[in-house]
Amino acid sequence: MTGSPLHAISFDVEEFFQVANLRGQFARTDWETVPSRLDIGMDAILAALARHGAQATFFFLGWVAERRPDLVERCLAGGHEVASHGYEHLFLSDLDSRSLDDDLARTEAAIMAAGAPRPIGFRASTFTLTRDTWWALDVLARRGYRYDSSIHPIRHPTYGIPDFEPGISTVTAPGGGELIEFPVSTYPFAGRNLPIGGGGYFRLLPGAVHRAAIARLERMGRPVALYMHPWEFDPGQPRYDAPFLKRFRHYLNLDKSLPRLDRLLARFRFGSMREVLAERAQLL
Ligand SMILES: [Zn+2]
Repeated sequence: MTGSPLHAISFDVEEFFQVANLRGQFARTDWETVPSRLDIGMDAILAALARHGAQATFFFLGWVAERRPDLVERCLAGGHEVASHGYEHLFLSDLDSRSLDDDLARTEAAIMAAGAPRPIGFRASTFTLTRDTWWALDVLARRGYRYDSSIHPIRHPTYGIPDFEPGISTVTAPGGGELIEFPVSTYPFAGRNLPIGGGGYFRLLPGAVHRAAIARLERMGRPVALYMHPWEFDPGQPRYDAPFLKRFRHYLNLDKSLPRLDRLLARFRFGSMREVLAERAQLL
């Protein structure tokens, strides 16, 4: 496989009851009482990465890192990158400069208390970095982040910047600071960007079609960035009632995630976001 380009694979470390699709089912005050299922997904993911000798980036919620420093330690022991997913999965649109700064500081403290270096990468909850929340880049630059993976260059009712550069680019914060933007992958199809980087699409598209799309992006010289969640590797999770589309996106094909991840790791070279950026001399 020497010579084949490195792609990025990442996992947003959050509980199934913290995802936006189930927001109507779980209040913030429920989080302390719902039994954790994080280990099921994390065990499966870490074992799969180890089987294939691949590294990944784990974007931890500060809330999780604080309660489960052992999970941060396991990621570090596997040679993986630990990055920030914010403290408690708030949308950037629900924050302002000051509250985001507090949220990030708290998350960094939890991650570093578990033994990880200061995170250099950030992914906002639910890709909520849009033109309306562009100010957030100032906060990230000020806190020393080097890259962001929060912009989804697609058309979606609640997030996304459809005309945003789909590959790696440099973004300038309103205050002049610079960051590397490494968005999760999209695939150009019929004049639109299809979100093939993960989520429901990863489980909806036939595996062979998904792999063909990645191979095509590879030929275009564009490293792929995939994102997944531990709960996607937990087919036995309890089912909750939610509006149809949200339920569909959350529960579809959960039993296929692990075999698909295995096929991907066998077929392509994957590393952490940081490794891909370093290999492409974007990070020194
Ligand atoms: Zn998330």
